[in-house]
Amino acid sequence: MLGKKILIVDDSALMRKVLRDILEAEGFYNITEAGDGQDALNICDKEKPDLMLLDIIMPEISGMDVLKQLNKSVKTIVISAVGQQAVIEEAKRLGASDFIVKPFDKDRVIERTRKYLK
Ligand SMILES: [Mg+2]
Repeated sequence: MLGKKILIVDDSALMRKVLRDILEAEGFYNITEAGDGQDALNICDKEKPDLMLLDIIMPEISGMDVLKQLNKSVKTIVISAVGQQAVIEEAKRLGASDFIVKPFDKDRVIERTRKYLK
């Protein structure tokens, strides 16, 4: 499981690093990053990640647009500061398996990542 391909998508380089560090400390080593929605779509197309951790608020192409375009083809956990129930439900309707609200608990990220990579 530790070699499964994980794509971290967030327009904040710091947030990408925080998530990468959490996952690498758990032994995951096959991690790719995207800093915007278009990059995320390109990587999903080429590399077919096993799991994507996806931010919502990003310039140009939002996380919601990424979900729409992928049409449930990539298993996704949304990690966003936008935690309104309507947004969570919309993300799930568009195919997100789960939704973690920022600021997040590190253990929750690890637990959910393991759960959806099983
Ligand atoms: Mg963002």
